[in-house]
Amino acid sequence: MESVYKLIHSPDLSVNVERILFLMEDLLKHNEILYMMVKEILPLYKRWSELMLNNFLPDEHVPSVFDIDPQELKDKGIKGVITDLDNTLVAWDVPDATEEIKAWFKKMNSHGIQVTIASNNNEARVKLFSEPLDATFIHSARKPLSKAFKKARKQMKLNKNEVAVIGDQLLTDVLGGNSAGYHTILVVPIVETDGFVTRFNRKIERRILDWMRRKGKITWQRRDG
Ligand SMILES: [Mg+2]
Repeated sequence: MESVYKLIHSPDLSVNVERILFLMEDLLKHNEILYMMVKEILPLYKRWSELMLNNFLPDEHVPSVFDIDPQELKDKGIKGVITDLDNTLVAWDVPDATEEIKAWFKKMNSHGIQVTIASNNNEARVKLFSEPLDATFIHSARKPLSKAFKKARKQMKLNKNEVAVIGDQLLTDVLGGNSAGYHTILVVPIVETDGFVTRFNRKIERRILDWMRRKGKITWQRRDG
């Protein structure tokens, strides 16, 4: 199989046509074995892909951060949240926190819940947003990699089961949060437009969301889904 694939994708295809035909013939002779193999491998592959995709499944999904009840978090044993910035707290092109977001931070803190902002965006953007809020922040976080998630948790002096991750992206926030073993909450992105990398991520995300919907793992619909 592999050699046929290699031949088809080689640059000098015309030279290899005969060779391909020969290999195909050879392959068909063995198709009984091939059929058996496919029958065995396919369910394994399906199981594996399902396990992989489960990493993208958030524990909760809400329309916005304002729908997250600090008391409910506390009831779950959560003492700190690591939140994304762009399109989670404010639109990605809005530099400052809104009055509602300022109030949200106060509300979280008054319930004894620590908040750390972890963003893949650059230092200037994240610093400018976080400092007026007196919020701890990590810029250039490289989510979904675990380093920033771990750092944020250690700074808050919390155990794994005491941390929730909030974000609008499956490929960075949810995948990273799940991999780190934290509780994950997905929010609907504040605006539809995005930066270049995010636009690419969204395409993959849409396919994952479709799969989850088909499997009945989620029942909600995104505006763009
Ligand atoms: Mg985001």
